[in-house]
Amino acid sequence: MSAKAILDMIQKEGIEYLDLQFGDMFGMLQHTTFVAKNMDEDQLTEGIPFDGSSIRAWKSIDKSDMVFKPDLESAFVDPFRERKTLVLFGDIYEPRTGERYERAPRNIAHRAVEYMKSLGIGDEVFFGPEPEFFIFDSVRIENSSNVSFFEVETGEGPWTSGNEGVNLGHKVRHKMGYFPATPQDTLMDLRSDIVNHMEDMGITVFLHHHEVATAQGEIGVKFGDIISAGDMVHKYKYAVKNTAYQYGKTATFMPKPMFGDNGSGMHVHASIWKDGKNTFAGDGYANLSETALYAIGGLLKHGRSIQAFTNPTGNSYRRLVPGYEAPVKLAYSATNRSAAVRIPYVTGDKARRFEFRCGDASGSPYLAFAAMTMAMIDGIKNKIDPGSALDKNIYDLPAEEADAIPSTCATQEEAIKEMLADKDWLTAGDVFDEAFIKAYTDYRLQEEVEIQKLQPTPVEFEL
Ligand code: GLN
Ligand code: MG
Ligand code: MG
Ligand code: MG
Repeated sequence: MSAKAILDMIQKEGIEYLDLQFGDMFGMLQHTTFVAKNMDEDQLTEGIPFDGSSIRAWKSIDKSDMVFKPDLESAFVDPFRERKTLVLFGDIYEPRTGERYERAPRNIAHRAVEYMKSLGIGDEVFFGPEPEFFIFDSVRIENSSNVSFFEVETGEGPWTSGNEGVNLGHKVRHKMGYFPATPQDTLMDLRSDIVNHMEDMGITVFLHHHEVATAQGEIGVKFGDIISAGDMVHKYKYAVKNTAYQYGKTATFMPKPMFGDNGSGMHVHASIWKDGKNTFAGDGYANLSETALYAIGGLLKHGRSIQAFTNPTGNSYRRLVPGYEAPVKLAYSATNRSAAVRIPYVTGDKARRFEFRCGDASGSPYLAFAAMTMAMIDGIKNKIDPGSALDKNIYDLPAEEADAIPSTCATQEEAIKEMLADKDWLTAGDVFDEAFIKAYTDYRLQEEVEIQKLQPTPVEFEL
């Protein structure tokens, strides 16, 4: 869409506000709102200055001016606003040099695909992300100090008798959510509403379903290129959270909110295309090409380091444990959902791809996709052999066999340290800038790892 077309749309459709949104380094959507009728064409094409000083791990107060350049193709009307509001995603630029800001995740995603092109590996990388989430009731509870989320959802807490008007007769037990019909599935209407909102926001949605855990859901959406898939994940989370909020409920994408039940992942399907052809289609294992197998080799080789971006939070590591359909071993397989990389059964070369199952949606999708792109590039460039496929249930392997396969990281700190020791594949072509990596890891270590180490938790009291 041209700037002119946006200005016309503002006039004709009575748009009162322009909301400029971008995802920060930690996957939080940030926004600022402009009066639409007072915007001009230059601002839309040249960019709009804003104060970047309070965005976590970005600029210090003495160098805080930044420019937001909207991506005019990203425009959508926000279905959640009372006053008609057009949202634009965009890229962050330095005001003086006119360069893209090297710590903005969307910019890093741009650089990853540009680097891939410059090497002649492909001209497009496609991602099909599958974020999972929980929707919790906001129940007011008397004497609630000892009540966990689990008790709230399953109705097994001390308030059950006094909780008038809430029918807790139909319950989804642990790991039994996939996928009995209503009324066991109490979230169907809510999910349908989310999907309507997502479609209104320009996302192509195929389906929605209850997931395995109590109160867990997933929405099946169309794949996209690195930038539109990154934008889409932000929009997906925005739609889920805002719709739940309208219902007086709370949605979370935290990877493991409930002990003893499945966590929320974000599996990501990936393929690299060149000259209109899928470079991952071939006649190797599971109809993959050699290129695809090398890409898997890169992902597995850097599978611990990459988790600093694909499993970025402390809570991410409570999900990566055996027994909950989350991967614990860095292996690949066509059949098996306990491996880090699964090759789904599909027909036709266009759909040929693999699924990286490690990640979750607790961080920046642009950084996760950029890191995946870089790992695949490294695998293809250096012909990294992924070894042979592991077509067995990894959770049941005898210890000697299991010990031979590298595991996913056990903590956030471990993943960050792995990445700091194995990052040449990320900084290749200056895609992940050193100063960015330092700012990102300093923040994670000082503001997150430390706090979680120092803070007593409810479990410690229980023990
Ligand atoms: N929730 C599982 C995970 O943590 C995935 C379940 C599924 O989609 N089969 O990855
Ligand atoms: Mg799925
Ligand atoms: Mg799922
Ligand atoms: Mg999946």
